[in-house]
Amino acid sequence: MITAKQLTKRYPRTVAVDEISFEVAKGQIVGFLGPNGAGKTTTMRMLTCFLPPSAGTASVAGFDVLEHPFEVKKRIGYLPEAPPIYPEMETAEYLKFVGKLKGLSGADLKKRVDYVCDRCAVGEVKNKLLGKLSKGYRQRVGLAQAIIHNPDVLILDEPTAALDPKQINETRDLIKSLAGDHTIILSTHILPEVEQTCEQVIIINKGKLVATDSVRNLQARARGAESVLVEIAGRSGSLEVPIVQHKLEQVSGVSRVLCKQQVDSRALFEVESQKGRLVRGDLARAVVESGWDLNELRPAAMSLEEIFLQLTGNESGETENAATKESQR
Ligand code: ADP
Repeated sequence: MITAKQLTKRYPRTVAVDEISFEVAKGQIVGFLGPNGAGKTTTMRMLTCFLPPSAGTASVAGFDVLEHPFEVKKRIGYLPEAPPIYPEMETAEYLKFVGKLKGLSGADLKKRVDYVCDRCAVGEVKNKLLGKLSKGYRQRVGLAQAIIHNPDVLILDEPTAALDPKQINETRDLIKSLAGDHTIILSTHILPEVEQTCEQVIIINKGKLVATDSVRNLQARARGAESVLVEIAGRSGSLEVPIVQHKLEQVSGVSRVLCKQQVDSRALFEVESQKGRLVRGDLARAVVESGWDLNELRPAAMSLEEIFLQLTGNESGETENAATKESQR
């Protein structure tokens, strides 16, 4: 549905997007990640025909963004970071206005306005001024305007930024429910959100593509060496962590042991083994033979945040706020 081939945007002093290539299949919901300044917004602006690429190509539903911008725009709904909302308009009036701009009219237009109001749960505020709406409602109206013309593709730039946790959950559920009907690219700095919402991720850093894969494959790839979590309890009501740690380190194939948590006579260790070495059986034996109880032994999944930091080398993650980002533009 979306194809980018060596897509590039050069500015006099920077290469904002540097030969990135990716594909997004129909109906997929893809997380678009990268630290601030990575080139996410620039990529989205090229995909939505707001900016022409300097080199390379991008197409939506087979239509090239440079050759057929009109066809591309018909098939794309875009929610920029700041929703394009006029405070002096009422919700339904605004949605009608956007629908007309997208080529809808008459009964079709009325049907679509009713549908998106219902779908995005903004029916209650149909006759309210947009300027008087809460941020959560405003964001939902932003989504409603993005889907008014029933586009194949939805491109959402930080759709949950500046929302409170309840509003984030509601918006996230809404986005998930839209995934069946639309192909979605979702840029966000909230990594758990990507883990919960997206099947695929595209990660860019300094304008370059660093990964495009399923969340599960990325976790498997990034792990490299196997990591397991082992919970051990002492039988006599006490547990000497340094002794246990030393014992675990002695197991053949183990490369690193970290004590993650200790509560009374129980402790949780993360044990990393060399690539290709299966150490779980030997670990279990070592624990039991030492007279401790093995409460739990399970694989440690790497969080998307850890993978992200590993791939981008960005120590602080993407923690800068929108205001900082805006000032970079
Ligand atoms: P992100 O959305 O990932 O934060 P952007 O796409 O906004 O990143 O920016 C990527 C890079 O391009 C940054 O270094 C930014 O400063 C630069 N950039 C963005 N827009 C412009 C512009 N209009 N002129 C010059 N440089 C720009």
